Amino acid sequence: MINIRINDLDVQVKEGITILAACREVGITIPTFCHDDRLEPHGSCRICVVEVEKSKKLVAACTGIVRDGMVIRTNTEKIMSTRKEILELMWAVHDNDCLGCHKAGDCKLQDYCFEYGVEASTSEYKTNINGRYDESNEFYTIDRDKCIQCGKCIRVCHELQGTDAIGFMNRSNEMKVAHPFELGMAYSACVSCGNCVNVCPTGALLEKKRKPFRTWDIDKKVRTTCIYCGVGCQMDLVVKDNKVVRIDPVIEAVNKGLLCVKGKFVYRFIDHPNRLTKPLIRKNGTLVESTWDEAFDVITDKINDIKEKYGSDAFAGFSSAKCTTEDNYIIQKFFRAVLGTNNIDHCARL
Ligand code: SF4
Ligand code: SF4
Ligand code: SF4
Repeated sequence: MINIRINDLDVQVKEGITILAACREVGITIPTFCHDDRLEPHGSCRICVVEVEKSKKLVAACTGIVRDGMVIRTNTEKIMSTRKEILELMWAVHDNDCLGCHKAGDCKLQDYCFEYGVEASTSEYKTNINGRYDESNEFYTIDRDKCIQCGKCIRVCHELQGTDAIGFMNRSNEMKVAHPFELGMAYSACVSCGNCVNVCPTGALLEKKRKPFRTWDIDKKVRTTCIYCGVGCQMDLVVKDNKVVRIDPVIEAVNKGLLCVKGKFVYRFIDHPNRLTKPLIRKNGTLVESTWDEAFDVITDKINDIKEKYGSDAFAGFSSAKCTTEDNYIIQKFFRAVLGTNNIDHCARL
C-alpha cells in the first residue's frame, strides 16, 4: 500500500493502480468516455484529466499511475474548465439531435454536457458529411456524426471480441470508425455480436429497434441466463410494457459483459405468435390444448405403464445445451434416480 492525498483526503491505496481506480476506491467520481475496466487503458478522450502536484500538465486519470506521496486534485476550476472545453469540442462537430435520438437519457455525452454546462448553441454542426450512416447490418446502425472517436468500439472488437472488424480511418475532423473497403458493415468481417454497440457512450452505434423507447420508460430489468448455448452467459432482459425491448450483457459474470449475435439480438421469438404457451395432448390423432395438470397426469401414467411393461432401460433422455447447467443436472438426476436408467445424453455430443 502507498499513501496519497486526493482532494485534501489522506488515503492508502494499492501500489500500481491508476489514479482513476484510486479515486473510485474513495468514492470520487471522474467522468470517462474511452475507459472500460476490461480494456487496456487508452487515455484518448482526456475527459478524466486531474491535477497532480509538481506535474506541469493535467494528467489523464485512466492512464496515470499512483506514486507514494502523490497529491491529486479532481475538482479545481482548471480541471472543470478543461473538461468543459473538451466537451465543447466534441459537441461542436456532433449532430446534437437529443430530441429525436434514441440514446437520449442513456448517453454519457448528453449527461456530461449537462453537468459541465455546455450550451447547445456552441455547436457548429453541419449535416451531410460523407458516409455518415451505415445501416447495412441487420442488427445495428452507425451514425458517424454522433461518434466522439473514443475508440471503445474498436478496442472491444480487437481486445475482447477478437474479430478486428473495425478501425479508425482518416485523421483530424475526417476521422471515422470504418471497416476495410467501406462496402458496408454487412459485407465486412463483423459477426454482429453487438459488443461494440453495448459500450458506445453515445448514439453512434445503436441497435435497430422494433419500436423506439426512452430509457426512463423501461419498467424493469430481469437477470437471466442465455438459452442459446452451454456457455451460460448472463444477461439482463430490458422490459417495457411486458415486452423484451433490449438485451444487456452482464459484466460481473462468466461472459464479462460480452454476448454473441444470438444472445444479444435474437430475442424476438419470445413473443412470437407461433410459440407454444400451453401443453398439447394428442387426442384421436389431433393435438389439443390442455392444462399443465392434465399433461402431467398423461406423462406420469405413460411413464409408469412403460416402466412396468419394459423396465427402466426402455427410457432415454436427451437434453440440450440451450438449458442451464442446473436444468441439465435435474434431467440427468431424474433419469438416473427416478426412472432408473443411465440412458441420458445431450445434444452437444452430436
Ligand atoms: S448521441 Fe447523445 S448527445 Fe448526441 S444526440 Fe444522441 S443523446 Fe444527444
Ligand atoms: S458487432 Fe462485434 S464483430 Fe461487429 S464490429 Fe462490433 S464488436 Fe466487432
Ligand atoms: S462509435 Fe461509439 S464507441 Fe465507437 S468511437 Fe464512436 S463514440 Fe466511441
